[in-house]
Amino acid sequence: MRQIVLATQNIGKIAEFERLLAEFAEDIEVLGLKDFPDMPDIAETGESFTENALLKARGVCEFTGLPALADDSGLCVDFLNGDPGIYSARWSGVHGDDLANIQRVLSQLDGVLDQARTAHFVCEVALVFPPTHRSANSEVIERGKLEGFITLAPRGTAGFGYDPIFQPAGQALTLGEFAHGEKDKISHRGIALKAIAPRIGVLL
Ligand code: IMP
Repeated sequence: MRQIVLATQNIGKIAEFERLLAEFAEDIEVLGLKDFPDMPDIAETGESFTENALLKARGVCEFTGLPALADDSGLCVDFLNGDPGIYSARWSGVHGDDLANIQRVLSQLDGVLDQARTAHFVCEVALVFPPTHRSANSEVIERGKLEGFITLAPRGTAGFGYDPIFQPAGQALTLGEFAHGEKDKISHRGIALKAIAPRIGVLL
């Protein structure tokens, strides 16, 4: 079996990625950070999604000695010149406080008309190999994007982060109102992972 480490603690994400990879190669085992409990936290000090995804992938690769895949994602609101961007998880000042992050974006868009509330989600994934691997010189980055707009108020309780205030273009529902599994089919993360999966099949 060939092995790859996904820089996540989330078992659901690992299972989903394993299914995606199986379309391109059947001999790949996907490990997660739960398999490396001593792995230290990696500070996301980069100035772009790419830099942060690479920082995480390089850190996990160095610690585990295995090929590593990491992602960095966020919400970019046009009226806010692309903010919260790489600061999406801590936009309210408290890391991971989804409700406070949503409230801050909504108040920053207070009074802004529908047509000026456009936004998109971005996900960048980075794939890095250890020095002894035959693909050591290949660092691969792929990107996924989901266009939409920020609603006037939160709707729905599914998903996480900014899902309740993000309505994808051409859809009647916010991501917070999407049925289980439907979001993955169109999401920025799904797009980026689908793009990188065949490359992993070849390079790993
Ligand atoms: P990361 O974990 O550093 O990639 O930070 C991602 C942050 O961006 C999350 O904490 C959310 O606030 C936001 N975000 C990224 N993807 C999504 C999504 O699919 N739905 C809602 N919020 C998202």
